[in-house]
Amino acid sequence: MPNYAEFTVRTSKRTQFIDITSDIARAAADTGITDGICVIHVPHTTAGVTINENADPDVTRDIDMHLAAIIPEHAGFRHSEGNSDAHIKSSLVGPSLTVIIHGGRLVLGTWQGIYFCEFDGPRNRRYAVKCVEG
Ligand code: ZN
Repeated sequence: MPNYAEFTVRTSKRTQFIDITSDIARAAADTGITDGICVIHVPHTTAGVTINENADPDVTRDIDMHLAAIIPEHAGFRHSEGNSDAHIKSSLVGPSLTVIIHGGRLVLGTWQGIYFCEFDGPRNRRYAVKCVEG
């Protein structure tokens, strides 16, 4: 029962929200930990991870659309790679999350899902899941 797992994800658009809840729930369950915490970490500077509604896909579409409105792709940024908008979105959304494990399950609300957030795709990406008992 390992308490660490890595996943890969292939994104298909420049910006994209991918529901990774089931992979994380399975990784957490595989540890056998009934009470503890689960950390999800995205080791990239132009991607992130967040929790939000997974019932209506328009919610993540709206988040994506409004992040683009707040942080345009081209706004006179200095970073020569041309993807400063993605770096800024990554910092705003954040690279990691902590979810409580209680009674052998992730403590998530009925409408909550965990999303890998791509801000500079398409790319091959990865994320790590570490669970700790306590
Ligand atoms: Zn860059």
